[in-house]
Amino acid sequence: MEFEPVIGLEIHVQMDTRTKLFCSCPVEFGAEPNTNVCPVCLGLPGSLPVINRRAVEFAIRAGLALNCKINTRSLFARKNYFYPDLPKGYQISQYEEPLAVDGWLEVRDRRIRIRRLHIEEDAGKNLHEGPHTFVDLNRAGTPLMEIVTEPDIDSPALAKEFLERLRTLMRYMGVSRADMEKGQLRCDINLSVRPKGSKELGTRVEIKNVNSFKFVQKAIESEMERQVELLRSGGRVVQETRTFDPSTGLTYPMRSKEEAEDYRYFPEPDLLPLVISPQWVEEIRRSMPQLPEQRLRKFMEEYRLDEYSARVLTDNKELGDFFEASLEHYGAEPKLTANWLLNDLLGQLSEAGKDVENSPVSPQSLGELVRLIKEGTLSSKLAKEVLRDMVLTGKPPSQIVEEKGLKQVSDEGAIRELVRQVLQENTKEVERFKAGEEKLFGFLVGQVMKKAKGKANPQMVNRLLRELLRS
Ligand code: ADP
Ligand code: MG
Ligand code: ZN
Repeated sequence: MEFEPVIGLEIHVQMDTRTKLFCSCPVEFGAEPNTNVCPVCLGLPGSLPVINRRAVEFAIRAGLALNCKINTRSLFARKNYFYPDLPKGYQISQYEEPLAVDGWLEVRDRRIRIRRLHIEEDAGKNLHEGPHTFVDLNRAGTPLMEIVTEPDIDSPALAKEFLERLRTLMRYMGVSRADMEKGQLRCDINLSVRPKGSKELGTRVEIKNVNSFKFVQKAIESEMERQVELLRSGGRVVQETRTFDPSTGLTYPMRSKEEAEDYRYFPEPDLLPLVISPQWVEEIRRSMPQLPEQRLRKFMEEYRLDEYSARVLTDNKELGDFFEASLEHYGAEPKLTANWLLNDLLGQLSEAGKDVENSPVSPQSLGELVRLIKEGTLSSKLAKEVLRDMVLTGKPPSQIVEEKGLKQVSDEGAIRELVRQVLQENTKEVERFKAGEEKLFGFLVGQVMKKAKGKANPQMVNRLLRELLRS
């Protein structure tokens, strides 16, 4: 019997606000432990939470980008549990009435439905060192969005792509850095398997906190295999929470699944219901940044890029920004600019252990390089050399051309003279060419280039050579 996976994701996204969700402590990665704390986020008795308006705005913006319906009234709730990194003994979250519901995100022409998006606060962090455990509460109270999908994902690769899309979208919306390595995007995977074609859902397992895109795909593949083997051998899947160990590539049981009742959710008495005016939602909708798909269309229609290049440039927001900044400097050749960025600069940057975000070559410099190529100052061979120096030194291309005397020779008289010399020195080849051996043309071009030390304008060499061969 063939089996297929059924996957639903629960994703936590850390919002990129300056301050925490219910107090004015800064949100900061890597600060000295327990320095960004106050009575509210430490959960001291008598302190009262005040909602961060910016966090609500970000969540609405993300909800709109995910095609959700924004509820004009939502409720905060206490989710009760005990853990050392949760000094209050409960987390403020949203339960029965979330901020946003019923959306979707398109991936590979498939619509993955979004069940809900709600706001909640993060807990602190336990740090284990040898026999000791330390608690750092800097992260306590950091604003999160939890995004829950319907079980619409049916392959490990689609799950990974969904997450990558979601990350791109969050960055475009400016609501999160969504860096998985920094824990700004965290994903729990719900996974069951069922006989292919069946409509019923199997028993699911939840895999907690998988922390890279690659591991998401691996964890699903390995857990799928485990469940299928279990069913094939006549066993049953137990509903439980598991954890993925990247070093073995396997999932291991953590605990039996907790039920909602275990958390004793109840409305947060210290916060009023969150009431959002439709006007505010409209205002946010109107001021939404460009969506990745809109940018893709613009790159294809306005800049005439092929779909593949346009996708690569828009999937990574920083790369798209770099490209457009470069066009601002020199916009006449978007295609040529895209080629030099994607085929040459990126490769050289990665060889130097860098990328566009810390590129020694500025977008302006790339634009300038493309201009020098287009205007015939640099052949593409010379341009590659110049680019290598640009990556090494950060100097603008004109300066490198100047310093190294790399300027391409476009002086017609000088090139004509070189062509004449080559024709005189290679009379046999010239005769054979005239007798019909077309391929010798390339040889003659090569001889001229050699004399010019590679600096002659190739179009001009071609033209003059044809001209003089005819005469
Ligand atoms: P809980 O809140 O207890 O984690 P939910 O019912 O809210 O459970 O579902 C959480 C996630 O699990 C959702 O993404 C949902 O799509 C997914 N899910 C629910 N049932 C299944 C199933 N049988 N197989 C795979 N995923 C499922
Ligand atoms: Mg869950
Ligand atoms: Zn605080």
